[in-house]
Amino acid sequence: MSTLKGKVALVTGGSRGIGRAISLALAESGADLAVNYAGNHDRAEETCRMLRDKGVRADKYAANIANDDENHQMIAKVIADFGHIDILVNNAGITRDKTFTKMTPEIWHEVLGVNLTGPAMVTHEVLKGMMPLGWGRIVFITSIVGQVGNFGQSNYAVTKGGLIAFTKTLAREVARKGITVNAVAPGFIETDMTSAVPEAALEQVRANTPIGRLGRPEEVAEAVRFLCSPLSSYITGEVINVNGGMFMG
Ligand code: NAP
Repeated sequence: MSTLKGKVALVTGGSRGIGRAISLALAESGADLAVNYAGNHDRAEETCRMLRDKGVRADKYAANIANDDENHQMIAKVIADFGHIDILVNNAGITRDKTFTKMTPEIWHEVLGVNLTGPAMVTHEVLKGMMPLGWGRIVFITSIVGQVGNFGQSNYAVTKGGLIAFTKTLAREVARKGITVNAVAPGFIETDMTSAVPEAALEQVRANTPIGRLGRPEEVAEAVRFLCSPLSSYITGEVINVNGGMFMG
């Protein structure tokens, strides 16, 4: 279904993992894609080729979303190239795990910069062009960790919980402009991020997940695609869990 034909989507961290799956799902619905990434050019180019094979326009944009200047330049370039941004998926995120007493201020600030302040600042800049359009979709990729916490991830949990609060607040502020703001909260998904998790811990995740396995990026992407489509027009400020039943809230 080409429900997003003529729409332009910016996906942060759209070059691999969950972000790549989101980019591909939006392209399948007909959207043109601006793929943001941090520095892995090859993976970003590979993703753009996969997107173009689906018959949409796609280009890659390197920018550290924690850096305001890089964000502004990226968004200006996307608008110069595509004309407008109708859909923003704030997906890029990092982990720097340590128990809180061992956590350094450096990794605390690093994770807050990329996972919380970065998405807020990207959204702030994108909204300037999106509000006059009278239609828009903003989706934040949060995490089950922002809902229930996780040992060794206080910095990460704060950012993901913060994104949920931000989603609900921004949804109220821009609803009358035709823009919906929602979040998707994945559980444990098979990507490069979770490949670093020890097998014993993953076994525990499987044991605590009613569906009994980790999720796939494509399963997260489907929820995002729905929230970006015209079919979700009366849903805003909502969090959709994609976690195999690990947390039902
Ligand atoms: P991933 O495989 O590690 O991919 C991360 C993506 O983000 C890459 O495209 C990377 O670009 C980009 N990125 C990293 N830092 C960036 C920065 N400072 N500026 C711009 N782009 C940056 O991650 P993932 O597992 O797909 O996770 C995607 C999102 O889902 C994250 O927000 C994560 O917290 C969330 N999430 C993941 C899981 C899970 O189990 N995997 C569960 C819940 C939530 P480069 O390739 O250039 O480095």
